[in-house]
Amino acid sequence: MTTPAQSANTTAPGPGDIGDRADVVVVGGGLAGLGAALTLVRARRSVLVIDEGHPRNAPAAHSHGYLTRDGTPPLELLRLGRQEVRGYGGRIIEGAVQSITPLDDDGFLLTTREGNRHRARRVLVTTGLVDRYPHLPGLRERWGRDVVHCPYCFGWEHRDRALAVLGTGPGAAAQALMWRQWSEDVVLFEHTAPGLAEEERARLAARGVTVVPGEVEAIEVSGDSVVGVRLASGEVHPREVIVVGPRFESRLDLLVPLGVQVVEHPLGIGRQVQADPSGFTGVPGVWVAGNVLDVTAGVMQATASGVTAAAALNADLTADDTERAVLAVRAP
Ligand SMILES: Cc1cc2nc3c(=O)[nH]c(=O)nc-3n(C[C@H](O)[C@H](O)[C@H](O)COP(=O)(O)OP(=O)(O)OC[C@H]3O[C@@H](n4cnc5c(N)ncnc54)[C@H](O)[C@@H]3O)c2cc1C
Repeated sequence: MTTPAQSANTTAPGPGDIGDRADVVVVGGGLAGLGAALTLVRARRSVLVIDEGHPRNAPAAHSHGYLTRDGTPPLELLRLGRQEVRGYGGRIIEGAVQSITPLDDDGFLLTTREGNRHRARRVLVTTGLVDRYPHLPGLRERWGRDVVHCPYCFGWEHRDRALAVLGTGPGAAAQALMWRQWSEDVVLFEHTAPGLAEEERARLAARGVTVVPGEVEAIEVSGDSVVGVRLASGEVHPREVIVVGPRFESRLDLLVPLGVQVVEHPLGIGRQVQADPSGFTGVPGVWVAGNVLDVTAGVMQATASGVTAAAALNADLTADDTERAVLAVRAP
């Protein structure tokens, strides 16, 4: 199915399309993938981007903190990025990559759910992550609007509002204290978070953060707005914005069979791929960027990590091209 993110600017692949071997196939056409693709096409590398078209921030009306484009809708940023990549001859197609298989004679074969096959000398995986937050009535439909996780993405827009922090893990108190920077009206609902230490309670109290014990049963929604938090006891606390602390799970299905190492983020907030600063996974020919590499990366960092990976990929391909040329010259 063609998604809104794709409809404006992708080419439908032909049935069973195998085509020429690309220097790099980029799996995932979010900002990390497009940032990489732009750098690679400008380095005169042949690039194919295969994208399923479900960027993580799609539920949000605007994307914030992207210098010179602050407040641009997420899908508009991608449309502009695709236009730039295609302007240099980069190919972008819709599709969901299902497998990446190393080939004996160097490079990779990629297959898609749609039944297409593509060959690549190198692969860059930028498939993003899945935000896992509690299943509570009201949360999912308001996600990315007045149910949020990231203060740098949404804090300014929700400044001075009645905020609820939904405690689900050991970082709940720290999250409440952080959001206090954007509003004086912050309530921490303990929900399923482990018990707060006395020192944490003292800190919260000193900053004017109220702590409400008990499990939350639902988020109250009226019309197009969050209006409160309902506890299992039936008590309802009027609130305008819910802050959650999701667990961030990088999409790793394609990478694990290749032998990449998966690590827990140092803050214990999610899983990501272990790689060097360029995104090289240690598996020959396989790079990662964006949220697959760093679950905390925002839009600028994700784009930048794609650019960094692209430069490393180009250097790797240049070394390979040179080695082949030397062998050809020396061949009897
Ligand atoms: C609601 C929300 C709002 C946000 N707002 C902001 C903000 O304002 N500012 C900010 O800095 N950060 C924001 N973020 C974070 C931002 O979404 C990420 O930084 C960014 O999306 C990471 O880019 P990415 O390219 O790594 O992944 P994504 O943008 O998620 O792109 C990954 C792409 O890969 C595709 N894909 C996945 N699997 C496959 C496959 N097997 N084959 C082909 N394609 C595949 C996906 O469909 C998707 O199109 C927000 C996050 C959320 C959840």
